[in-house]
Amino acid sequence: MIADALRELYQQVILDHNRNPHNFRKPEHANRSVEGYNPLCGDHYTIYIELNGDVITDIGFEGSGCAISKSSASVMTTLLKGKSREEAEKLFHAFLGMVKGELGPEETEKLGKLAVFQGVREFPTRTKCATLSWHAIESALTGEEASVSTEGSGK
Ligand code: ZN
Repeated sequence: MIADALRELYQQVILDHNRNPHNFRKPEHANRSVEGYNPLCGDHYTIYIELNGDVITDIGFEGSGCAISKSSASVMTTLLKGKSREEAEKLFHAFLGMVKGELGPEETEKLGKLAVFQGVREFPTRTKCATLSWHAIESALTGEEASVSTEGSGK
């Protein structure tokens, strides 16, 4: 059971994105950035966005961490580029629901590439790795905080 879940967790997509992260850079015209930190694992990233009106016209990230956190940030950036704030929020909430095990199989399937991260729900500490960059982008979009931590510090 555990072995199956682990295998699912480290699917090829995750490994590929970890080795070859997309948008792993600071966009030239970024106008918002938020730092995300997961002290339990040591994941530490800065997420950059260029927000034009209501649209994310560019997005990138820098930093380091485990394969789950890095690949999750990478997949996120590929999905959110060109999306409106509202579309991004919708995906954020769907992704959180999935890793908490609240989404049914049909809704999970709609998440496409993001569905490879559903295995993390078996591992609470890994869940924080997978959602770190999403919490950071949520914060960047709402403009509330310049940094987020999975452990609620850094306020
Ligand atoms: Zn991690």
